[in-house]
Amino acid sequence: MLQTVTVPPKHLDDYADAAGPEAVERLREAARPLRGARVLMLNSTAYGGGVAELLITQVPLLRDLGIDVTWAVLEGSEPFFAVTKSVHNALQGAEVDWDQDAEAVYGERVRANADQLSEDFDVWFVHDPQPAAIVQAMEERGRRSGRWLWRCHIDLSTPFPPVWDFFLPLVDRYDAAVFTMEEFAQPGIAGPRLAFIPPSIDPLSDKNMSLGEEEAVGVLARYGVDPGRPLVTQVSRFDPWKDPIGVIDAYRLAREEVPGLQLALAGSMADDDPEGRHYLGLTEERRDGDPDIHLLTNLDGVGNLEVNAFQSRSEVVIQKSIREGFGLVVAEAMWKRTPVVGGAAGGIRLQIEDGRSGFLVDSPEACAKRTVELLRDPGRRRDMGETARTRVRERFLTLREMEDYLRLIATLP
Ligand code: UDP
Repeated sequence: MLQTVTVPPKHLDDYADAAGPEAVERLREAARPLRGARVLMLNSTAYGGGVAELLITQVPLLRDLGIDVTWAVLEGSEPFFAVTKSVHNALQGAEVDWDQDAEAVYGERVRANADQLSEDFDVWFVHDPQPAAIVQAMEERGRRSGRWLWRCHIDLSTPFPPVWDFFLPLVDRYDAAVFTMEEFAQPGIAGPRLAFIPPSIDPLSDKNMSLGEEEAVGVLARYGVDPGRPLVTQVSRFDPWKDPIGVIDAYRLAREEVPGLQLALAGSMADDDPEGRHYLGLTEERRDGDPDIHLLTNLDGVGNLEVNAFQSRSEVVIQKSIREGFGLVVAEAMWKRTPVVGGAAGGIRLQIEDGRSGFLVDSPEACAKRTVELLRDPGRRRDMGETARTRVRERFLTLREMEDYLRLIATLP
């Protein structure tokens, strides 16, 4: 068997307060037809990035519902993750070098993983492009059984054609393909049933639970942030699509209007993201030794509680993405009633209604302008934060996403 990920148990009943008892009941009902089913969750990392974040909550909750879930991670290699990172970039619109060698590195590694998949499942839930070819590899081995879902978490609105042409026949083999938004489903997908299901956050996780003021301030102080001066934060991997350099540019413009403003950029180094270090270096260069820009990673001990503190205690959270599958960090901040200035891209547009539950921007200048507006107006921040919290409660909590999946699976032949 592939390497499996162990996660601590969670109990659905604990969610009644945060999500409402009706949501708990609806989810129980949706799970009934799948009780006892064996489900494989397959992705490429147990740590770092949004997919791991979702599975850490959903795997134990599905188990609590009586579903027999195994979470396995693909065994990669340096060349494989270099290829899949370039696939990730290409599917979000970048032109990359793509040739038969890249296809071979990709195909060989996925086949090697298929050889290790010794068990069979009733439902195969495959996340993102890295393991997508597993369905073909299992067919080649005469082992296709059960129902197959491909869950695409990335912004697939304008893929680089040569790479998408390679993936399309793979996607076409699935029984269902799930996208966050309709605009991510490329025309031409002919095989699977299409479903549109936005991701979600866990209101009870260490990252999203309510944190006392003193505790939050204590965390910030540990990282040298002055609690007496305003703070803006972006939490995300160091990746061109997250535009950390644009955030620094926006911050510098905003600081001209709000002297003393501080910026925190926190990003974890995911196992499957070989570009992280390179991009962290470029961000460090743009920071240019500025002591009011706090550049932090998981290597500095920034874990869930610390992210929580930064998201809760910042006056404004920024997520200036240029492409974004969803952007869990947006929902995470909105849940904490912190207003978000987000890039007008992909899933961020699904979460923020511009001017109501946050602001949408498309340049460092616009980002700075909206940030300053919020920094100068505590009443506006409070109102926007409250609207944002309600929006997340109604649409982006984990129980809703799980219910959507279970209902979809139940309708597959
Ligand atoms: N994250 C974290 N520490 C960091 C950076 C990110 O815990 O230093 C988490 C973040 O809180 C969120 C997830 O990683 O839950 C990132 O998900 P998102 O959808 O925003 O972006 P992705 O990395 O999947 O593109």
